[in-house]
Amino acid sequence: MKKLSEILIITIIYFTTFLIVSGYKIQEAGTMMMNQQSGNPYYSHTDTSVLNVPDSVWKKILPADVYAVAREKATEPAFTGKYTDFNGIGTYYCAVCGNRLFRSDAKFASTCGWPSFFEPARKNSVIYESDNSYGMYRIEVLCGRCGSHLGHVFDDGPPPTGKRFCMNSIVLDFVPDDSTSVK
Ligand SMILES: [Zn+2]
Repeated sequence: MKKLSEILIITIIYFTTFLIVSGYKIQEAGTMMMNQQSGNPYYSHTDTSVLNVPDSVWKKILPADVYAVAREKATEPAFTGKYTDFNGIGTYYCAVCGNRLFRSDAKFASTCGWPSFFEPARKNSVIYESDNSYGMYRIEVLCGRCGSHLGHVFDDGPPPTGKRFCMNSIVLDFVPDDSTSVK
């Protein structure tokens, strides 16, 4: 009799473990499918961990025009970007990784032909690098999370910072404040 109850307990433990493991696997498969649907497993509005993804991987994930600016430092032609004359109230995220970059209240009307901001959303939103290309000395602005090229920063911006973050629209994702979508 004792043996029978032991067998019964072992059987219950075995099946419980089996159910937990298969449940976990189903959940994991669901998460993978979600990532595959969005096509970019690195994109997040909440994860601030620094990414070190090689260009060969980004090339497979990103649309060609985003890749050209973000990873090959191309510049979109002046006055062609979707956010140049855009005045929506909300947040601009990195179109490559979803990192929070700028708030709309730091955006100002600039005549330069690209969306311009006087400060990033937070200190670590962006990083800077010296850029001596095209015979000019400029300061390049890169995403603080994925290292993608965003644009340049100049010293002819308005108060309070005097900075002009001159950005390419194509590497920005705007989300309005009244948006109900959670990413
Ligand atoms: Zn990024």
